[in-house]
Amino acid sequence: MRKDILGDIRYLKGVGLKRAALFNKLEISLIEDLLYYFPRRYEDRTVITDIGSLAPGEYQTVRARIIRVKERPVFRQRGFRIFEAVAEDSTGRLSCVWFNQPYLKNYIMIDREVMLFGKVGLYGNSPQMQNPEYEVMSSRSSDGAEPNGQSNDSLNSARIIPVYSLIEGLSQRMFRRLIKTCLDEYLPGIIDILPYDIRQRNHLLNIASAVLNMHFPQDALRQEEAYKRIIFEECFLMQLIFGLKRYKADKIIGTAHRLNEDFLKSFEEGLSFKLTDSQDKSIAQIKKDMSSPNPMYRLLEGDVGCGKTIVALYGCMISVSNGAQAAFMAPTEILAQQHFRVISHQLSALSAAGGCAYGASHRLKAGLLTSSVPLKEKQKIYNEIKNGTIDILVGTHALLQEEVEFKDLSLVVIDEQHKFGVYQRMGLLTKGLNPDCLIMTATPIPRTLALTIYSDLDISTIDELPSGRIPVKTYLAGEDRRGWVYDFIRQSLQSGRQAYIVYPIIDESERLELKSAKAMHKDLKKNIFSDFKVGLIHGKMKQKERDKVMASFRKGEIDLLVSTVVIEVGIDVANASVMVIEHAERFGLSQLHQLRGRIGRGTHQSHCILISDAAGDESGQRLKVMVEESDGFKIAERDLEIRGPGEFFGARQHGIPELRVNPLENMELLQAAKKEADALIKKDPRLGLRQNTGLADILQRRFPDYEKIAEAG
Ligand code: ADP
Ligand code: MG
Repeated sequence: MRKDILGDIRYLKGVGLKRAALFNKLEISLIEDLLYYFPRRYEDRTVITDIGSLAPGEYQTVRARIIRVKERPVFRQRGFRIFEAVAEDSTGRLSCVWFNQPYLKNYIMIDREVMLFGKVGLYGNSPQMQNPEYEVMSSRSSDGAEPNGQSNDSLNSARIIPVYSLIEGLSQRMFRRLIKTCLDEYLPGIIDILPYDIRQRNHLLNIASAVLNMHFPQDALRQEEAYKRIIFEECFLMQLIFGLKRYKADKIIGTAHRLNEDFLKSFEEGLSFKLTDSQDKSIAQIKKDMSSPNPMYRLLEGDVGCGKTIVALYGCMISVSNGAQAAFMAPTEILAQQHFRVISHQLSALSAAGGCAYGASHRLKAGLLTSSVPLKEKQKIYNEIKNGTIDILVGTHALLQEEVEFKDLSLVVIDEQHKFGVYQRMGLLTKGLNPDCLIMTATPIPRTLALTIYSDLDISTIDELPSGRIPVKTYLAGEDRRGWVYDFIRQSLQSGRQAYIVYPIIDESERLELKSAKAMHKDLKKNIFSDFKVGLIHGKMKQKERDKVMASFRKGEIDLLVSTVVIEVGIDVANASVMVIEHAERFGLSQLHQLRGRIGRGTHQSHCILISDAAGDESGQRLKVMVEESDGFKIAERDLEIRGPGEFFGARQHGIPELRVNPLENMELLQAAKKEADALIKKDPRLGLRQNTGLADILQRRFPDYEKIAEAG
């Protein structure tokens, strides 16, 4: 019998309830999820180096015999223990130390042959590895089988090793072992949803081989082929959904909104600024779409700070002035709150001016729904959505919950769309009767690219900033200018401004010698800016804590905010005028641009300092673009030129949860997938043919509402 890959992960041998809970945090709940939980990166440990030729400073693999072991406490550090071992091959000796892993004495034993992988340092004159990864190759001692799944069937050395994104409580070793178990048991039962002829034409591996080689690649070439197959599949499914939707689009009837010009005018007059020409143009397009009976499906793209929110809100006004409702979905709680504030403010300005949407008695109301809203409050909101008391519902993905039922949803606005998966965005659409949909993105996407990725969308572009903005001045500084950078921050704080320092990672990483937000926060607070209030915000903090920190920063209770990229999206604190970005070379240009967009929002001159020692090389070149260019579209184009589309969205991969790999990695594949999807739809628009039942199933499962959308109308 075929083992069911849709079974719960906790029934996998070696998992159990406790680990399953950890897995769930990684969004792994089914066996299938684990099979598709691909490595973050790989380490090539196929090259084994003689101890005699180890090069300090590099990660290398050694195969050697243990000749000495010792465990000892650390001087004046209670409870802290060191495990030391010396390994020997025919060319020399390598000393190894591990901290606080006393159980190692059960594995690393004298006379055992081990593979060691780690960064080579020097201890005196001899090579040393600290906390190397290890694999026991053979057991010469009499105890025979090794405990705890350590086996000669090497998962951790002498091959290309997968490295996964994990959380505390899950080690790479254990995870690899579980993946191995999972592959052994379930791979034979995996069904290939790609029809054979499509695989043939596009030279794609079958699914079993692809999944296997994603985790434990036979060699680099196989890994690449596996990756290609997986990406193709994702792109294909996406394009299939788009295609099915397009196929039916003509027949779909949504809401043909009336345009209540008087009301819209009073809304516009209530704004504290005049709309830019670009905003006007986008609004005109939205008006046209929304008044037509066919559903709008429009992407609103524009640089950070160009004023997309107001344009989207205008759409909401069209909706509510027809007595219908609008939903406004943002990727984070902080952003949702911000939108809610803006929208509520505009609504109360409107009602103060006597503007009512329809009927003299109805005061427009916005609601905020996020996962942190208390249950009782939630229930109230659910009711008010259902009975139409709430006109505009703002929130996070909490809007997707089943309990959320609208009285009459006629417009869906989705902010920062690349943070949501395709399936999620469609999920919200099914809560209305073919509602109009406006998707906003602040990642300026060059038009050609956008047309391929969002082949199902019309595009509105806002390509100018409101007048009166003072462009941010950007500088590149090497490590040697750090003193100057700190002085600069100090001066700004003294004159009442606020500042950000942004780091690429949170914890002192095992492998990368990057200054981490946490460590630097401590140092800055204690040693450099002790006379100021220094705050910390990062993605591993609880949402509540994060919101609290953000709120105090907004209120000016924090002067200097140390952060990871969590501040990237949409935060608006006008008084923050300085941003320092550490290890700037680690960010993509578009991401840097997004970050930089957090400043330059107020009346003071803002400054962005990119710290990097990479000035000379290619990444230094990239950074120069940031100094020279402030236009997000131009930056995106340069980014694309320099890196190719492959990495353009690389850093964002984590943001597309349902697409397990980034479809933008390879434009050619995306195009090929689109071609195949279109051809298939032409032949079999209902996916009724036998060879397509696998496809129909998976669409049904991964996107339960797809048929509703495909068949709607
Ligand atoms: P984004 O496009 O990044 O979402 P927002 O909509 O948040 O930008 O707008 C950024 C800021 O600019 C907001 O404070 C908004 O009120 C303001 N704004 C929007 N449009 C204009 C305009 N035409 N003139 C002046 N300020 C504007
Ligand atoms: Mg925004």
